[in-house]
This record gives sequence, structure tokens and C-alpha cells, in this order.
Amino acid sequence: MADLIIPIAIYTDMLTHLTSTLPNEGCGLLAGKRAVAKSVYPIRNVASTPQVRYQMDGQQQLRAMLSIEADRDSLIAIFHSHPTGPEVPSATDLREASYPSAVYLICVPLPDETWRVRGFKLKKNRFEEVVVSVADQV
Ligand SMILES: [Zn+2]
Repeated sequence: MADLIIPIAIYTDMLTHLTSTLPNEGCGLLAGKRAVAKSVYPIRNVASTPQVRYQMDGQQQLRAMLSIEADRDSLIAIFHSHPTGPEVPSATDLREASYPSAVYLICVPLPDETWRVRGFKLKKNRFEEVVVSVADQV
């Protein structure tokens, strides 16, 4: 059983956004019910550097959270890219992580223009890898 299930259409939208922000880090939120993602909210990265750091635009993040609440969904994943790797969260990611219920997705572009996506959950002040699956249909 996957900890996070992302329908292919949502997965594609997420990666299209992250491709559009290259070579800088991109970020956003996934909302849904239980473990299944239903909608993607691309958020502007106000830090916007190729370095391993991101900071979500506060206004856009707030608007997304209100919309998620209005849909009676939950924030289930927080995604961002590491344009030059690594495939795991940085020390800064760990320090700034504050949603133990969400999966943190790290997305790394590969030379063949596909992406490597790995998920992590906050447990006792460290990240543990979880199972993320992309579904053709849910
Ligand atoms: Zn990061």
C-alpha cells in the first residue's frame, strides 16, 4: 500500500510546473483525501535560486490552503525540485519542514527529461522515505 498515490494527470501537472521553473527550484502543494492526490497547486518560489532552498510565496500558499479547505480536502503533499540533486531532502528542508501529516516530495530532473520523484515523511525530527505510486487511474 502506497503512502501517497498520485494520478498520472496530477503527476504530469506537477512536473510541468517544475519543468517551467528550471533551472531554479519550483514548489507547490498537492491536496486530496487520505492518500490520494486530487489537485495540484503550483506555488511561486520567492527564493527562486538553483540552490537547494525554496520559500513559498505566502499569499499564494494561503490562497491554496483556503481553497483546499473549501473543497474539504487535506494538504497531503508538499513538493519541490532539486534541479541539480540530491534526491533527498536537504538540511534546510528538514529545518523548515513543519507538516508531519504531509509527504515531502523531492523531484529531480534526469538527463532524459523525465523526473525522479521520492517521498519523505517527517518522523521524530528526521525524514523517512515513504512509498509514492503514480496511478493510471484511481
Ligand atoms: Zn529542498
